[in-house]
Amino acid sequence: MAPVTGDLAAGAGLAGPRFAAARFAIALDGPAGAGKSVLGAALAAEIDATYVDSGIAYRAVTWDALAAGLDLHDDATLAPRAAAMDLDVAPPTCRDGRQFTVTIAGRDVTWDLRSPAVDAAVSRPSALPGVRAAVTEHLRRLAATGRVVMVGRDIGTVVLPEATLKLYVTASAPTRARRRVADLRSRGIDADEAAVLAAILDRDGLDSTRDTAPLRAALDAVTIETDDLTIQREVAIALAALAGRMGLAPPEGTP
Ligand code: C5P
Repeated sequence: MAPVTGDLAAGAGLAGPRFAAARFAIALDGPAGAGKSVLGAALAAEIDATYVDSGIAYRAVTWDALAAGLDLHDDATLAPRAAAMDLDVAPPTCRDGRQFTVTIAGRDVTWDLRSPAVDAAVSRPSALPGVRAAVTEHLRRLAATGRVVMVGRDIGTVVLPEATLKLYVTASAPTRARRRVADLRSRGIDADEAAVLAAILDRDGLDSTRDTAPLRAALDAVTIETDDLTIQREVAIALAALAGRMGLAPPEGTP
């Protein structure tokens, strides 16, 4: 499996110089549609860090299994495929709203990974211990480079338990469903809000009750409820928390 990273950090923001010399890892977890990827990418750009979206790896394993007609519960088959997958995540190759361009064996699967079919299926392979071990090992290698914002479900609890800062980002289920519908419609996919809400609740249930690495906030995580927050405010809260964990004075104008 190749790097699941996006260099979205071109041009550090105002906070960049404060954290310029530091090594850190920020773990950012939370349920589907809570706004993790928007916050993660904005935060990474602000502090000149590498942004890693771990969900892409689980989505890629799922898409591959669906395309090959494999049993989504068959860890013995899916884990080695996950470990060997020719997955690449690179800066966007076109301007259609994508954060990255994702390829598997050279094929552009960026939007395939965000399809309702993958949404509905992804929690199954994600619950398999062998698949999780393959993805986790890969994610840890990426974090070892030093300045990383990693987004997922188990980053603070399992993948990077020693992370400098752990954030748990959440929002009410109706807010998350509304955001998902807006996202799908912006890509020309018609979506019924009630059905999307049901799918989100289903995925939350599977992700938080599985035996291996269930979704939950780490005990030392800072929780951010994003229902009524702007992205600027979320970034400010995260930067203040990071400064606190690194023993720096809080940035001006932060809560
Ligand atoms: O974040 P995203 O919605 O893209 O994640 C898709 C799915 O991948 C989640 O619903 C979850 O089943 C799985 N996942 C996970 N652990 C992670 C990241 C994602 O189990 N660290």
